[in-house]
Amino acid sequence: MRQLIERLIASTTHTIVAHADELTALDQAIGDGDHGLNLKRGFEAVRDAADDIAARPFGAALHKAGMTLVLKVGGASGPLYGSLLMAMGKAAAETPASAAAVATVLGAGITAVKERGRSDAGDKTMLDVLIPIQQALAADAERPIAELVQDLRSVATAAMEATRPLQARKGRASFLGERSIGHVDPGARSSALLVNAVCDVVEEIRK
Ligand code: ADP
Ligand code: MG
Repeated sequence: MRQLIERLIASTTHTIVAHADELTALDQAIGDGDHGLNLKRGFEAVRDAADDIAARPFGAALHKAGMTLVLKVGGASGPLYGSLLMAMGKAAAETPASAAAVATVLGAGITAVKERGRSDAGDKTMLDVLIPIQQALAADAERPIAELVQDLRSVATAAMEATRPLQARKGRASFLGERSIGHVDPGARSSALLVNAVCDVVEEIRK
């Protein structure tokens, strides 16, 4: 358990740090250019607290990681990703192993993001990646999660790309109106990166 949590922290932090400039560039196009920096600060704080976080049961570890993001990230994305992880942590009584269990836990997280952000599918946000991923998990509920990894990676990429033609209805990008059309949403990109980072861990563990 401890090792799984440690791997998840290492993998997600690595991808966010490696793509921080790209996330910032996306946010420069339709926001204020801080998304990469925001998430880098948040995930590095989670990594700094890895020993404390990984000593907890799975749900409590997720919750603590979420609280760390809320506390460390100034932008909208910190409280939103923080709410996602905190609600997922509350929903995860034990480590979710099947696609069905992950779908339930992620569903609880998505509900919390929607409430906090007053947002939903189609608003050109992180939800436009998280919701299709949850739906893909729910649709293949009986399959072991390891078998779904390739599908989930494809769903994340396609969902992220599908934010490009949308007009933003929430967050800073919404201030641009029609000028937000034609750009990938930064939070959709970070969500796709995080999905892939989790998939990397699932594949690593299977080896
Ligand atoms: P800020 O907008 O405060 O500068 P960030 O740049 O870190 O914060 O994050 C921007 C991202 O947060 C957006 O690309 C979008 O995906 C997500 N986001 C913003 N507002 C909302 C919302 N109300 N609901 C869901 N996601 C949102
Ligand atoms: Mg920003």
